[in-house]
Amino acid sequence: MSKVLIIGAGGVGTVVAHKVAASPVFTEIMLASRTKSKADDIAAAVGGGRIKTARVDADSVEELTALMRAFRPDIVINVALPYQDLTIMDACLECGVNYLDTANYEPKEEAHFEYSWQWAYQDRFREAGLTAILGCGFDPGVTSIFTAYAAKHHFDEIHYLDIVDCNAGNHGMAFATNFNPEINIREVTAPCRHWEDGAFRETAPMSMHQSFTCPQEVGTYEIYRMYHEEMESLVKHIPTIRRAQFWMSFSPNYLKHLEVLQNVGMTRIDPVMYNGVEIIPLQFLKAVLPDPGDLGKTTRGKTCIGNVITGIKDGQFKAVYIYNICDHEQCFKEVGSQAISYTTGVPAMIGAEMILTGKWTGAGVFNMEQNDPDPFMDELNRRGLPWHCVELTEEQAKILKVNQQ
Ligand code: NDP
Repeated sequence: MSKVLIIGAGGVGTVVAHKVAASPVFTEIMLASRTKSKADDIAAAVGGGRIKTARVDADSVEELTALMRAFRPDIVINVALPYQDLTIMDACLECGVNYLDTANYEPKEEAHFEYSWQWAYQDRFREAGLTAILGCGFDPGVTSIFTAYAAKHHFDEIHYLDIVDCNAGNHGMAFATNFNPEINIREVTAPCRHWEDGAFRETAPMSMHQSFTCPQEVGTYEIYRMYHEEMESLVKHIPTIRRAQFWMSFSPNYLKHLEVLQNVGMTRIDPVMYNGVEIIPLQFLKAVLPDPGDLGKTTRGKTCIGNVITGIKDGQFKAVYIYNICDHEQCFKEVGSQAISYTTGVPAMIGAEMILTGKWTGAGVFNMEQNDPDPFMDELNRRGLPWHCVELTEEQAKILKVNQQ
């Protein structure tokens, strides 16, 4: 008997609900969110009466504990927003429930995320004999597991890590974000930080970019160096890493819109008065942008996300590229969502399975790379996110030439 409580009925929650319902590991499922009708719609789309629904404000520990005491889940999959991570962790501790999320905590009033807030729960989860897994989406998540897999099977020491996230999909809209617009825009407008020689180095947002050709004819895209949360835990847990960089592709059209929105103040997160009411411009912008959960219908193309990793094996230089390619249209056919939600939701379901089936054990707060990557990598292949691993030459790795032609 394994009961799961999913919190957040958005784009990622839709995928988690479908995948969890298709897994025999989860015997009872509840999907709870701020707007209950959205959870009801997802439950109806999954069908078979597999999913119960509830309304919960995940900013309130009181509401969360009341729900957990009534349903008594074994694990919570948190796919609400990063703002709710700490209240959900508090409620899990109060009710003796394991915890898993896909994005690290971020305070609403400051566009700044780091693991310190959640790492501070380490002793409390360990003493309670509970497991908390942080960042179990694709990036962070699968990219962290790819790194752990490389460390276990391919390297004695990892020296350089480049994570490259290419979304080669086209949703046909003038401007839209692939996941929650507020979180997405806060992330991409932040200063860039990358790890080099023992410290994070800061550079201007989007100031460093290069062309990247994906394998398997997915296409050539401009990728931009930016900060991403998995670098913080990876350089802590794999201290031989000398440089870690994260790259993401953006179309000229996306960047043009983003620049204008920034210039006119629409990405601000401080309150402004409008008609006697305080509003946050970025939250208002989210309300008028397309809902990422609705983009699946029109999105064509693929995502290609992977790690270029170099280091030493048996005293020799070695480089590998480990990656997954995911097709937006196939994801939509399977679960009614585009590939960004899919590539996040599938790992979240697998991570919950790892805990409930005892493949990952241990009490405390863990980042993904601290767990055994092998059973997780196997499940990726079986559950819709097959991966590939190819060797690169030193020159190919240096210039991120991964397409092998
Ligand atoms: P959405 O905005 O589509 O969904 C978020 C859901 O959470 C909505 O249903 C929303 O409710 C609900 N919610 C928000 N606040 C509360 C609250 N206080 N109480 C209860 N429910 C609440 O976002 P996504 O599905 O795109 O993203 C979900 C999470 O996944 C985010 O944390 C995002 O950062 C993360 N993510 C991680 C990735 C990875 O690879 N690691 C990649 C992409 C996303 P309502 O419907 O009422 O607004």
